[in-house]
Amino acid sequence: MRQTKQRNGAVRRLWLFMLLAAMTAGALMISLSACSPSEPSGGIAGDDVQGAQDGQEHSDGQETPAPLSPVQLSILCAGDVMAHETQLKAQYDAVTDTYDFSNNYMYVKKYIEQADLAICNVETTFRGGKPTGYPAFNSPDSLADALKGAGFDIAATANNHMMDTGFDGMQRTLQVLRDAGLTTTGSRFAGEKSYSITDVKGVSVAVVAATYETPVVNGSRTINGNRLSEEARALINSFGYETLDQDLQALKESIADARAAGAQIVVAYLHWGEEYQRSPNDWQQRIAETVAGFGADVIFASHPHVLQPVDYLYVKDDGSVLSAEEAASAADARKVPVFYSLGNFISNQRQETLDNRYTEQGMLAGVELVWDAQNQRISDISMNVLPVWVDRYKVGGTQNYRLIPLDGDMEQNEALGVSGHLQRAKQALEDVRALIGNQFLHDNCPQAQ
Ligand SMILES: [Zn+2]
Repeated sequence: MRQTKQRNGAVRRLWLFMLLAAMTAGALMISLSACSPSEPSGGIAGDDVQGAQDGQEHSDGQETPAPLSPVQLSILCAGDVMAHETQLKAQYDAVTDTYDFSNNYMYVKKYIEQADLAICNVETTFRGGKPTGYPAFNSPDSLADALKGAGFDIAATANNHMMDTGFDGMQRTLQVLRDAGLTTTGSRFAGEKSYSITDVKGVSVAVVAATYETPVVNGSRTINGNRLSEEARALINSFGYETLDQDLQALKESIADARAAGAQIVVAYLHWGEEYQRSPNDWQQRIAETVAGFGADVIFASHPHVLQPVDYLYVKDDGSVLSAEEAASAADARKVPVFYSLGNFISNQRQETLDNRYTEQGMLAGVELVWDAQNQRISDISMNVLPVWVDRYKVGGTQNYRLIPLDGDMEQNEALGVSGHLQRAKQALEDVRALIGNQFLHDNCPQAQ
């Protein structure tokens, strides 16, 4: 997120201070003269809404509130942030005995920072102690700092690796992410809400995150085979396929609670699907329709480690789903962008390790929307995809990982110059174009040749 919020806050505080000073001076004047009629106070209401305007004064001194200006918002989401053993080695500095992941994000940072709200899925835990990769991920705390430094605002923690280091690891992960300055969603401390709410340019945006569970074992729910205690289950958002309808009701309640708490826009992040499948399965489609019907305005998702197509769902206020043709003539149909799988954002999964180049390809999923503050609804929404590719190359015996945005600057990218992998990056762009369709690609992507 850009720093406008803090600046706006400072400006608002200054205005409030001036207003208070003026009011104090005014009160003093009135008490001194005891004869002047008081002036209308003007538009201090709605001070959180960007572009809110002062009311117009009629000749009778009454005010009519002026229309509230629409607010343009951009929301971005990245897929699975993973930290395999070879990545740990690559980011380790033996001299200082520290890990630094920030160079991974140096080329994509500008896109993440530009978004008004940026989300990623943190598919690891921060248990402290010796870092480990697959199968029980325990990452150095500095990974959280690198994600904040890359421009992310919100870390989704609902995924199949969230319990890799047990209940204590799940809880410490939240603290580490928050200490780094990130908002968390998908798991929580006791007594907290099941969603996050962030003020974005004066608009209240909730993010509700949930992950699939693995099958019940001896009566216990599990995530990635790890048994969930009742205590843990109460602090994470998850759904089992054996109890799907009932578990989705909890998501419905989360969305309703967020709305009741003032959320104007609701974003869902779902962790689901089948690994290495490049198209959504029936479950994903069914859950997407259900969650959109519950009132989610955007659905981001990941877990399959590869990208899947993007689509719009059209949903009526009663939750029913329409085709695009039906929606064209339905007055109350909401258009809900759905990204079925954002793939890996960064990992060591790739051609060299899995003989699967699609695992190297990810996206920065973008949603541009206009919030109609007057009518309290989204008046326009669209999605775009900036494909990204993980370059891995050795310099002086050390592996380097860099996320490369597959935009028009690819030919000049320094990392690709060193690795000599420009053709692989171009292939990745064409793979993504073929999968999701040219019309959804970000404007900065080169046209098909
Ligand atoms: Zn996963």
